[in-house]
Amino acid sequence: MPKNIKPEKESRYLEKVSDSFGSMLEKMMVESRKAVNSADSGSVNAKEILEKQIRKLHSFESKINSFLQLYELDLDEFALTREDFSVVAEIDEIVTKLKAKSQKIKTKIDTKLDRNIPEVNINRILFQKWMFWIINKIFSDRDIIHVSVDARFINDHIVIKVTPKRYSKDPNINWEGLDWILAERFFHLEKGTIKTLDNQGVEISLTVIAQKQEPISTEKALESEDLLKKVHEGIDLPTLSPIAAKVIRLASDEKTSAQQLASVITLDPALTAKLLKLVNSPLYGFKKEITTLSQAVALLGMKAVRTMSLCISIFDAFPTGAKEGLDYNDFWQRSLASAIACKYTAQKIGIRMDEEAFIAGLTQNVGCLIFERFIPEHYGKVYSRHYTSSEELVAMEEENWGLNHSMLGYEVFTQWKMPVLLAQTILYHHDPASVPDDNENLALLVKMVNVSDLVAQVLYTGENTGINLQRLKDRYKEYFGFGGVEVDDIMEYVSNEIDTVAKDFEFNIEKPADYAKVLQHANIELGKINLDYEQMVRALELAKNKAENLASELRVVNKKLEEKAVKDGLTNLYNHRFFYEMLNKEFANARRHKRPLGCVMIDIDYFKKINDTYGHQEGDKVLKVLGRILFEAVREGDVAARYGGEEFSLILSNTPTSEAYKVAERIRRKVEQTAFTSKLEAGKITISVGVVGIDTSKIRKASELAECADKAVYASKDNGRNLVTLYSKDIEKKTP
Ligand code: GH3
Ligand code: MG
Ligand code: MG
Repeated sequence: MPKNIKPEKESRYLEKVSDSFGSMLEKMMVESRKAVNSADSGSVNAKEILEKQIRKLHSFESKINSFLQLYELDLDEFALTREDFSVVAEIDEIVTKLKAKSQKIKTKIDTKLDRNIPEVNINRILFQKWMFWIINKIFSDRDIIHVSVDARFINDHIVIKVTPKRYSKDPNINWEGLDWILAERFFHLEKGTIKTLDNQGVEISLTVIAQKQEPISTEKALESEDLLKKVHEGIDLPTLSPIAAKVIRLASDEKTSAQQLASVITLDPALTAKLLKLVNSPLYGFKKEITTLSQAVALLGMKAVRTMSLCISIFDAFPTGAKEGLDYNDFWQRSLASAIACKYTAQKIGIRMDEEAFIAGLTQNVGCLIFERFIPEHYGKVYSRHYTSSEELVAMEEENWGLNHSMLGYEVFTQWKMPVLLAQTILYHHDPASVPDDNENLALLVKMVNVSDLVAQVLYTGENTGINLQRLKDRYKEYFGFGGVEVDDIMEYVSNEIDTVAKDFEFNIEKPADYAKVLQHANIELGKINLDYEQMVRALELAKNKAENLASELRVVNKKLEEKAVKDGLTNLYNHRFFYEMLNKEFANARRHKRPLGCVMIDIDYFKKINDTYGHQEGDKVLKVLGRILFEAVREGDVAARYGGEEFSLILSNTPTSEAYKVAERIRRKVEQTAFTSKLEAGKITISVGVVGIDTSKIRKASELAECADKAVYASKDNGRNLVTLYSKDIEKKTP
C-alpha cells in the first residue's frame, strides 16, 4: 500500500484503481480483437499490428503487476483478490493467442523467403557436439555416464541417434525434455518425431525450417598437407627475434643462471624496455619500481621473465590492428582476456603455473594467425562468421582445410622450439578429453585454456550471451568445482584488469569489457527464452537507470531467473515449490476475506506395480495423462500441481468443502473410466484422494492444510483405495 494512503481509504482507493484497470482492459480487448481480425483478413502489416498489440498488453500487464506487488510488499494485511489475478490471467491468455498468431504469420513469411534456398547449411560436427552438450546438461542428474550422438542429413530432415551408454540407476529418460527451444534458436529446427530404439537409444527426426546463412565457399586454397609442409619447413612463418629465441632456449635450460638470462635480454634494448614496463605493471603488483633486469629476474624468477619475453616476442611477430575478416585488434583483445582469466584461475586453484597459464591463454589461438597468414582471403570469411563459437570454428576449419588452428598452433610452437608443455596445451585446448592420462599439469592447463576461451566469448561476443554464460559456469564447475560466485569474480577481475594489462603490452583496447552489461544482456536473453520472466527483466532494465550497483543486482536476478522454474517438466503442471507458494497465498487470502478454500491430494494406487509390469516409460505416460485430466478438471485460477513422484495436489480457491469433495469425486470417476494408454484399459488406473477444506477444522497454517489432505489420502488407501475421503477429526484419531 502506498504509504500516503490511510487505511480507511484503502478499499475505496483500490476499488477505483481496479475500476480504471477494468475499463483500460476492456479497451485493450477491443483493440486486440481488431488486431486479430486484421490478421485473419490477411492485412499486409498484420504482423506489426499484432506485435505492437502484444507489447502494449505486456506493458499494461507489468503495470498491473507492479501495482499488485506494491501492495503485497508494503502491506501484508491486505491481500490480492482473485479478481485482480483474473485480470492478469485474461491478458496472459490474449497475449498467448496473439503470440501464436504472430508466430504463424512469421513462419509463413519465413517459409516464403526461404523457399528458394535449396541447401541446408548446418554443421554436422557442431550439431553433434551441441546435442551432446544439451543431453549431458539435461540429464546430468540421471546418472548417464556417457552418450553417443550421431547426426545425419536426409533432405530437409536431420536425424539424430542418441544412445546412452552405461548408466547406473534410471534407464528411462524423458526425451521430451530436450530443450527444443534451443535447437530451434540455434539450428532453425522444428521439433520432430522421437522414436525409441530397441537397444534403448532414441532416434529423433527434426525438420529444418529455415536456412539463414549462405554456404561458405568450400574451395580449398591450400591442401592441409601444403599448409603443414610450409609450417614444418618454416616457409613464410613469422620470425621471432634472435634474442627472443635465445631467451626461450636459455630459460628452458635448468643450468642457466639468472644473471646469464638477464645479460642476454639486455642485448635487445626494445625487449628490455618492454620487459621492465611489464614488470612494473599491476599484473605483478610490486610496490617499489623495478629498474634493472637482474632485479626483475631475481624478484620474479626465470619462469616469469621467460613468459614475458615470449609474450612480447609473439606480439612483435604478428600484426595487430583492425581489418576485414580476422580483425587483429579483436583477436588480441580476446586472447588477452583469456590470458588474464587463465592466470587468475591458476591462482584461484592454487597451482604454481600461473605464468604458464597466462601465456597459454594468450597464445591458444596462434594457429588462427597462421591460417590468416597463408590463406587470408579464405580464412577471414570463416573466422569472422564462426568466431561466435570456437567449437564451430574448429569444425569449419576441419571441414574446409582438413586441420584446425590447434594443430597449426602446435606445429608453429614446435617449430619455434617453445616449451613442450605450452605447445601441447595449444594442441589439446579444444579437446580436453584427449589429453594423455599421465600428464596432470597438461590436463590442468588445457582445462584452464579451454574455459578461458569462453570467458572471451562471453565478454566480447554480443550473441547468445545467456547461454554462453551458462556454459561457462557449467564448465568452470565441471573442471574446477567453481560456483557461480567464483565465476562472477573471475569475470569481474578480467573486465577490470584488461585495460591496464593491454596498455602494458602497448596494445589498445577498443571495446571495453563490461561484465555488468554482459549480465544484463544474459538476463534479457534468458527472459526471451523464458517468457514468464520477461517482466522481471523489464523491471530490471528500468532499475538499471537508477541503480549504481547494477552488477550485483543483476546477479541476484540472474539467480532468481534460474531458480524460478515453476513447472514440472513431465506433466507440465505446477511443481511442488509453486504449489506451496500458492497455497500460502491462497490460505492468507481466504483467511482475510473469510472465503472457503479446498485442498485436494491425489495418489495413484499401486503405481509401483504399473512401473514393474509395463516399465517406467509407460508409468511416465500415465503421469502425463493424469496431469492432463487434472489440468482440465480445475477452473482457471485454481492450481493443479505435481506434488511429488506419483502424488498430485489441487488448490481450489473460493470453494466450499462440499464442492471440493464433488470435484475430487468427479476426478476419481474420470480416472477410473479412462484408458490411460493402449496397454492400460479403463479401470486399470485408480487414485486415492483426500480432501480438506479450510472450514473443516481449526487449521492455522497452510502447511497443515496439505498435511490433513495427506492424512485423508491414507484413509482412502486403508479403506480399499479408489476412494475419496473427506478429512475429519476421526481420521486424526486413527493416524499414529
Ligand atoms: P499405493 O497404492 O500404496 O500408493 O502404492 P504405490 O505403488 O502407488 O506407492 P509407492 O509409494 O510404493 O510407489 C510409488 C511409485 O511411483 C514408486 C516409484 O517408482 C514411482 N514413481 C515415482 N516417480 C515416478 C516417475 O516420475 N515416473 C515413473 N514412471 N514412476 C515414478
Ligand atoms: Mg581456440
Ligand atoms: Mg501410490
